[in-house]
Amino acid sequence: MSFHALGLSDELLAAVADSGYNEPTPIQRQAIPLVLMGRDIIGVAQTGTGKTASFVLPMIDILAHGRGRARMPRSLIIAPTRELADQVAQNFLKYGKNHNLSMALLIGGVSFGDQDKALEKGVDVLIATPGRLLDQFERGKILLSGVDILVIDEADRMLDMGFIPDVERICSLLGPNRQSLLFSATMAPPIKKLADRFLNDPRMIEVARQSSTNANIAQSLLMTGARDKRDTLRELLRAEEVTSAIVFCNRKRDVNDLADSLKRYGFRAGQIHGDMEQRDRLSTLEDFKADRISILVASDVAARGLDIKGVSHIFNYDVPFNAEDYVHRIGRTGRAGKTGIAVTLVTSADADLVADIEKLIGARIERRGAAPLETGSESKAAGKDGGDKDAAPARGRSRGGRRTKGGDRKAAAPAPEIVAAPVPEPEPEPEPKAARESKAAPAPVPAPARPTPAPKAAPRAARDEDIDDGTWNGPVPDFLSVSARD
Ligand code: AMP
Repeated sequence: MSFHALGLSDELLAAVADSGYNEPTPIQRQAIPLVLMGRDIIGVAQTGTGKTASFVLPMIDILAHGRGRARMPRSLIIAPTRELADQVAQNFLKYGKNHNLSMALLIGGVSFGDQDKALEKGVDVLIATPGRLLDQFERGKILLSGVDILVIDEADRMLDMGFIPDVERICSLLGPNRQSLLFSATMAPPIKKLADRFLNDPRMIEVARQSSTNANIAQSLLMTGARDKRDTLRELLRAEEVTSAIVFCNRKRDVNDLADSLKRYGFRAGQIHGDMEQRDRLSTLEDFKADRISILVASDVAARGLDIKGVSHIFNYDVPFNAEDYVHRIGRTGRAGKTGIAVTLVTSADADLVADIEKLIGARIERRGAAPLETGSESKAAGKDGGDKDAAPARGRSRGGRRTKGGDRKAAAPAPEIVAAPVPEPEPEPEPKAARESKAAPAPVPAPARPTPAPKAAPRAARDEDIDDGTWNGPVPDFLSVSARD
């Protein structure tokens, strides 16, 4: 099926063709005609399915006629994080290039600019995170009664981050005759309740990403000692054919420490986590997309839903506390039909977390490295996996308060070719000597893994304050809308 069958305008079809997309994805095939008909929809779909275009494309055509009035946006998209909001904005720019729509982005963490004038003048599309939108509403900068189309994107993430009350409040501020589109990877009861309350006779569209995409991801677990993780990671980065990689840590301070460490060893690395200023996060992302850095060290919240093309590898430096996060992490690779590799560093303390993940994905992940991992289900001989006597418990593990000097240092020596190249080691790791003595064997590229079924919702574990739960700890300047096209 081609995009031509969906009822989109010629201008829009031209922009889609320029993007290089020939065929609509399943969610686009199902959603676009319904949205054009004015129906409310619930899209049960994750990032990677093409869901953004499934609402952006028909919205552009619907909004093509008419004009935004002062402080009264005609459409509103709420997204859980700034990066996601920015990505939706990029989609509007890409597909709306033949239209003359005005757009504003209302997110925390970026400074006030002249884009508030665009809001004042009236925008067709307002993309916002819930908290910042309510702030501006309360300051009288926006009236929401003129919104004809509402999109709630990644409602499951809103739920995780405690935003559902804000979303309900926003919905109650909108006029009654709007069209509403809700997207969520899961339909947990609070999301169902939200839909029941604020959507009007919605059509439910469900697409599974995991069954198709995960077939392209070769997953493996690499056993290592808790104190050998950095050595092991560096060996992996040198041994694997890494063109671009995201390395996930469970804690924000570890994101900083690890990224700084990799830079000291000559890797082109950058970091992204929730304590960074918005402009730094966006510029790191730009650096990664433009291949100025090839390794992005990230926390879960900062990286969730990011659409970065061509990520060859995912490395889980820490096994995620929530099995569901594992699925989201590895979903950053193997996108759009490409193959990807996901390697998780595992210590003996991580057995329970691994068992949770395997239960969720319904498959056993390939083990590599010398020591076996004893998960409850596979052996009674737990505790005999050797080589990791120094392993700290998975929760509350600390690096003794060691902090890095600054977040934004450039790589000491550029190392564009990581694969099998001897990387200079200008500044040795300030790690205890004893920790360096038991080194994990470097691992070969793993064989393709079995397909994994779609995940079920997993309970989220209690989090300590250094885990990136989306809470903004840095300064929060005023809003800025990034783009207005009138
Ligand atoms: P999303 O699920 O919206 O995050 O999109 C995932 C990725 O798929 C993005 O890189 C999109 O640019 C890409 N994409 C969207 N629609 C299509 C399509 N019809 N064909 C191929 N790729 C697409």
